[in-house]
Amino acid sequence: MNVYDSARMADVLAPLGYEPADSAADADMVILNTCHIREKAAEKVFSELGRLREAKEQKNRAGEPMIIAVAGCVAQAEGAEIRARAPFVDIVLGPQTYHRLPEMVARASRAGGVALDTEFPVQTKFDSLPPPGRVENHAAFLTVQEGCDKFCTFCVVPYTRGAEYSRPAADVLDEARHLAKLGACEITLLGQNVNNYHGAAPGGGDWTLGRLIRAVADIDGIERIRYTTSYPADVDADLIAAHRDVPQLMPFLHLPVQSGSDRVLAAMNRRHVSADYRRLVDRLRAAKPDLALSTDLIVGFPGETEADFEATLALVEEIGFIQSYSFKYSPRPGTPAAQMTGQVPDEVKADRLARLQVRLATNQERFNRACVGRVLSVLFDRRGRRPGQLLGRSPYMQPVHVAADDSLLGTIADLRIEASHANSLSGLLADTREVAA
Ligand code: SAH
Repeated sequence: MNVYDSARMADVLAPLGYEPADSAADADMVILNTCHIREKAAEKVFSELGRLREAKEQKNRAGEPMIIAVAGCVAQAEGAEIRARAPFVDIVLGPQTYHRLPEMVARASRAGGVALDTEFPVQTKFDSLPPPGRVENHAAFLTVQEGCDKFCTFCVVPYTRGAEYSRPAADVLDEARHLAKLGACEITLLGQNVNNYHGAAPGGGDWTLGRLIRAVADIDGIERIRYTTSYPADVDADLIAAHRDVPQLMPFLHLPVQSGSDRVLAAMNRRHVSADYRRLVDRLRAAKPDLALSTDLIVGFPGETEADFEATLALVEEIGFIQSYSFKYSPRPGTPAAQMTGQVPDEVKADRLARLQVRLATNQERFNRACVGRVLSVLFDRRGRRPGQLLGRSPYMQPVHVAADDSLLGTIADLRIEASHANSLSGLLADTREVAA
């Protein structure tokens, strides 16, 4: 979502004459769009600010100004600390107020004082954003939902992104049509809890995510649809049916489970036990037999024992996740888990993470090998490193190399997969079909 938000900030600033610069040192303004989900991400902001301070001083010595802004969830959660630790920062803005950047830039350049805006305005930023300016590599993100009401005990999202909000379906469809016109053939619908989407329907009432996906699939030029991130307990029958019925919906689902231990899941306040998750995956696979899954996992949650961790390893093996974002538990300020007893020592977390990653890499290799001999559709989204080579992505997000010329860029073709490598596949063209522009 930060990628989407950063692009929207560029869209908001374009009318003021700002355009992306090649490096921070050349820039009139630098915006750090930040993440607060784990401590490491948040701490990076301060080390990065140290470097920017030097760049700003150098520019100032040459008589040129440089505006420094900190945006995103670290700004939301630690605005006061940023001001205290980094007084050379001109603008601090949360994720819900970046549509007001032009005002803040004007204020910062006029007064030279700090402009701080970390409110949750009643009128949403989406009502004031211009249409997206460009699409890169034929794929686009589209935020449909923001915020979270789930309050997992480890997570800061409800405090930084705020309560759940769904954009009206008509607005989402307008933006999707616009993205298709700019050349997007793949759209990823985004939300912190995207499958609890319940946006106002064009004819009154609400639409579910399943209904929204069906409408996006009707847009000319949209050949592939993905959505992320989903909360398992909120997957409904309508969404499962969309996996069965909508050919554009890719057979690859990111469904964070966090742990395989029911004791840990309860302590996390996840509203599912591992058996619920297994049943859900069975229902999804019954609807879409070639569905592959990726997930998020946390190791070393407070109180996690070796046996709890082994339950996670067993679930990873059983479900056959082909990919995972796996993290050491990171205590976050203001969250209940940070106060829990039984915090796990870092070396234990590191050891579990390493073992988990070995298991996941094995799953991924096995899955990649099983793709050899299959015909997979590939969206050619960029040039390869060598001339005459294109790089694309399979339905399962695997990078795929093929010998082909540039005329295929932005098209989807069936490839016969010839070989699997550590992190990619290579294939031969089986048949090419142009994507309608
Ligand atoms: N909405 C998703 C979570 C998205 S947050 C869900 O309900 O599952 C992205 C991921 O960051 C989470 O899935 C979790 O695995 C990880 N994460 C969040 N808080 C964390 C923390 N305090 N320590 C370690 N990982 C964390």
